[in-house]
Amino acid sequence: MNRAIFLDRDGVINNNSHAYYIYKVEDLLLNEGIIEALQILSRAGFLLIVVSNQSGIARGFYSKDDCDLINNEIKKILADYHITITEIYYCPHHPDTGNCLCRKPESLLFEKAMARFQIDPDQSWMIGDQERDLIAARRAGLQTIGIKPNEDIRGYVRKIAGISLNRDFRES
Ligand SMILES: [Mg+2]
Ligand SMILES: [Zn+2]
Repeated sequence: MNRAIFLDRDGVINNNSHAYYIYKVEDLLLNEGIIEALQILSRAGFLLIVVSNQSGIARGFYSKDDCDLINNEIKKILADYHITITEIYYCPHHPDTGNCLCRKPESLLFEKAMARFQIDPDQSWMIGDQERDLIAARRAGLQTIGIKPNEDIRGYVRKIAGISLNRDFRES
């Protein structure tokens, strides 16, 4: 079984204080400390998986291609720092245009990822800046860390990495 850190995108990885919907590359700004945080998690052996609500697609503000462009740009920037994002999942729907099971606080995208990558929820966490991120993750059995929007997550991440190292030490 693998362990993973699930991350919300807007407000956790990239800054969304300047725009509610981030869909232009020029609006993409990574949050303070995120690169070091993801490096710490990678080195501690976590898969990194993003789960994001992108209702701006259903609402016609931007396209799936726009969303993919931002996601690819994030992956490219992080790859320069030897950080691999295992997968980015997103829900393109909006409640106004029909219900779905993939929009957080629903947990389908977490469950998909957990099955595909054989993730042990007891050794995995979700980091999110909205209550619905945490509700969705709890429904999937994950541990959760709630942050303020665009907060530096290095402190939380060091704790997670420390817990995991202790666990490895006990189990070996
Ligand atoms: Mg968010
Ligand atoms: Zn959806």
